[in-house]
Amino acid sequence: MTDDPTAQARAWRRELHQHPGIAFDVEETADFLSGVLAGLGWRVHRGIGGHGLVASTRRGSSMRAIALRSDMDGLALDEATGAGYSSRNAGVMHACGHDGHMAMLLGTAAALVAADDDFDGTVHLVFQPAEEPGLGALAMIADGLFDRFPVDAIYGLHNLPGIPAGHIHTRGGAIMAAEDDFEIRIHGRGGHASMPHLVIDPLVIGADIVSSLQTIVARSIDASRSVVVSCTEFITDGARNAIPGEVIIRGDTRSFTAEDSRLVERRIRTLAESVAAAHGATCDVEYTREFRPTVNDPGRNRVVAAAASAALGASAVDADCAPRMASEDFGEFARVVPGCFAFLGTGTVVGEGGTPLHSRDYDFNDDVLEAGIAFYLQLVRSELPPTAP
Ligand SMILES: [Zn+2]
Ligand SMILES: [Zn+2]
Repeated sequence: MTDDPTAQARAWRRELHQHPGIAFDVEETADFLSGVLAGLGWRVHRGIGGHGLVASTRRGSSMRAIALRSDMDGLALDEATGAGYSSRNAGVMHACGHDGHMAMLLGTAAALVAADDDFDGTVHLVFQPAEEPGLGALAMIADGLFDRFPVDAIYGLHNLPGIPAGHIHTRGGAIMAAEDDFEIRIHGRGGHASMPHLVIDPLVIGADIVSSLQTIVARSIDASRSVVVSCTEFITDGARNAIPGEVIIRGDTRSFTAEDSRLVERRIRTLAESVAAAHGATCDVEYTREFRPTVNDPGRNRVVAAAASAALGASAVDADCAPRMASEDFGEFARVVPGCFAFLGTGTVVGEGGTPLHSRDYDFNDDVLEAGIAFYLQLVRSELPPTAP
């Protein structure tokens, strides 16, 4: 440990960065977190939802408790940052900044230990695996997370390139969208490319379906609401001179309400089946729900806004930012206990904190560790105020 808390958090972040894991495969990460937190005197509980872990500390006599949550997993990408502390695990890297999220909680843990009597109650640090596939939060909840560690509120931060470094953006209500996936399998009849009158061409039908799906947002959704329908894959079993017999179209939709999600599913099924039928083909549609929306509790949102303003200055805070169409596993926690999720800006210039998430050259901007830790410390003091001496 060094005496400079930000330098220490930076060192932890870079250590975590070198040993990323994917989804539930984060044992190395859990080992490291567990070692640091136990060394700081926190009680560490491992093996919750796979390699998820909770570190707890209690002070004073209050029964109030809050959770601060970080994700643990990286992505299946080959790192191209060129950093001296690049990933040592081939084909895996922290391209979403979850290493930075973990380091901010470790820095907060260290600072809370150093400040002896600064809060009254219990703080649980929740580290979840498998945020990227949207499975880790549910796994921890199913494993009894909130039964074993009851809390009055849960909070989380995600770093976000495109927002000025050290700024916090949040909002009451839905802040991140639900993500649904779909697969449309069109069954036609393939044949010789020179004799199309003898086939039922699923490729032409598929093109028609892709076009028709564009009308869902344009013509079926109330224009005041936000929905996205994207086709992302178009796969055929044809060859250059053979018309395919089957086409698979895959895609992804985003929405903020269960009502819109159901409407999108209904329209995809109707459009795909009727366009296929009009051309003498059949199709099967599979529709699955991957992430539910992240919805912030309005009261917890006010707590976050006040804590962020106190820690970072009011000019660094937007408490009513626009919602994002991306999706986040934090929403599962916030369905069970009141919660608030916020974005921590990492910078607006590419290469200086503004490189987009999930890029091979993305590297968490260590300069915002200090702001994240200051925010978390203020949040703990606001939610678990120290008793008057
Ligand atoms: Zn991500
Ligand atoms: Zn992420």
